[in-house]
Amino acid sequence: MNPEIAVDDYLLLSGIQHFAFCPRQWALIHIEQLWEESDRTIEGKILHENVDDPFFREKRKDIYIVRSLPVVSNMLALYGIVDVVEFTRVSGTEADLGIKLPRKRGRWTLKPIEYKRGHPKTESIDEVQLCAQAMALEEMLKISVDSGSIYYGQIKRRVEVVLNEGLRQEVIRLSSEMHRVFKERITPPAKLHNGCRMCSLMEKCQPKLTDKPVSVSKYINAMIEEVSKL
Ligand code: SF4
Repeated sequence: MNPEIAVDDYLLLSGIQHFAFCPRQWALIHIEQLWEESDRTIEGKILHENVDDPFFREKRKDIYIVRSLPVVSNMLALYGIVDVVEFTRVSGTEADLGIKLPRKRGRWTLKPIEYKRGHPKTESIDEVQLCAQAMALEEMLKISVDSGSIYYGQIKRRVEVVLNEGLRQEVIRLSSEMHRVFKERITPPAKLHNGCRMCSLMEKCQPKLTDKPVSVSKYINAMIEEVSKL
């Protein structure tokens, strides 16, 4: 357990993806409790609703699928839900890598699967979230999880992700930063970047005004100028 963080202060694991995208966006949602639905967030919710069924279990020969599995990592002080965990029955030399499951024969390895509405991104923000889920599963079930998958709605297929050491270190760095910002309760300033165009909090964030220190008098003069044009 992370001795510096009380269980009550554990943060939502899914937030790590927001934090990796933009720490300010994460803080606006998780500290200031601001959220704005957009077409993209609604589509994402619908995709998740189709996946999220906590009572769903599916068995196909040597594959066992569990949906909406709750996870927690004491090391990262994060908790959340994994969309899908796919267990695979292993035998022979691979059996040493697996774990036993209640009321199931043999030994099983697993991989997490995350569902996203869009398409693969150039930044590794989705991979970071998947890796945090895998790290939580490893901690809870005492198993190694070397890879996972992300299903993208726009391309309608899974992309395999190797959960390497670099990704794991990034998860540790981001979760520790999230906890620092959460403890200080200071929303980071905006950094105007290409992703701002896609951000559902653009209006509330006002990155053009908040991406650099603005003197109050300059701000008021700018506002007066805007109003006088009306
Ligand atoms: S508008 Fe840009 S800076 Fe502001 S929260 Fe969204 S992504 Fe971050």
